[in-house]
Amino acid sequence: MIYEYECKKCGTIHERVFKMSDFPKTVKCECGGQAKKILSIGAIHADTDVPWLPSASEVLVKHHEKPLTTRTEYRQYLKENHLAPIG
Ligand SMILES: [Zn+2]
Repeated sequence: MIYEYECKKCGTIHERVFKMSDFPKTVKCECGGQAKKILSIGAIHADTDVPWLPSASEVLVKHHEKPLTTRTEYRQYLKENHLAPIG
């Protein structure tokens, strides 16, 4: 499982790999801020930290034809985060 954390202070995105049931809610950013989990990749069940983006895989598998807010925004999100659609 890959988890993404966004620093609330500087906005940096941190990618971390943890076991599915064993991950921290936040990780420490080099700026001294706390990075909060925003996304889990590979999850089957939604994590509702971000209501409109439960997880990249769930969105792609179950709601492939539906945008998040808009499809363009979703693609932009994937691109910005160097993510590729799963499956
Ligand atoms: Zn930071």
